[in-house]
Amino acid sequence: MLEHKELKNLFIVNHPLIGHKLTHMRDINCNKMQFKSLLNEIGYLMGYEITRHLPITTKTIQTPLCEMEAPIIKGKKPVIVPILRAGLGMSEGLERLIPNARVGHIGLYRDHENNDNIVEYYAKMPNSEGRQIYLVDPMLATGNSAVKAVETMIKFGVQPKNVRFMVLVAAPEGVRTFHKAYPEIPIYTASLDKKLNENNYIIPGLGDAGDRLFGTK
Ligand code: URA
Repeated sequence: MLEHKELKNLFIVNHPLIGHKLTHMRDINCNKMQFKSLLNEIGYLMGYEITRHLPITTKTIQTPLCEMEAPIIKGKKPVIVPILRAGLGMSEGLERLIPNARVGHIGLYRDHENNDNIVEYYAKMPNSEGRQIYLVDPMLATGNSAVKAVETMIKFGVQPKNVRFMVLVAAPEGVRTFHKAYPEIPIYTASLDKKLNENNYIIPGLGDAGDRLFGTK
């Protein structure tokens, strides 16, 4: 995992298996079933990398042979927060890795009749005090939804310093917008792509992640 040279607090999770799986996902011939499965697998693999910071302590256990001081994760269970709907496909993989994690959900849509404002239509968060929060959305495009999601979490008492943001593909525009609002939140991505097009799709990207995940197009 490498921090980007110019974009501070942006980490590229450059594991060969993740790159390989992402290539299959980008391919127009990747079908719904494969797309869902690959997104889940990448969520799991990226989760392995982005949880390296979790603090550990030890506890005394009895093995069949002797007593030992063995490592365990310190503190409260983390919270995973997918941004609906595409976030669900990636957060499932992370949840497989941390089955005890609490899960919040944030639903947002773009109001095309009102300057493309981001509107929150659903928000449910567990008690997140003192917990590590993993915000999940496969596509970081304009960054507006991600900023709105953090604003929503703040209303629930979340502190940005406890948040980490996991995305699959990021556009430089989205990284800049997000970090202008929340520079302290690290972004982890499998790829930093070239740019946004005139419709705010990521280029080269992979199309509409939600549609490809749920077969809605
Ligand atoms: N959301 C998507 O699903 N894809 C993009 O390219 C941009 C935003």
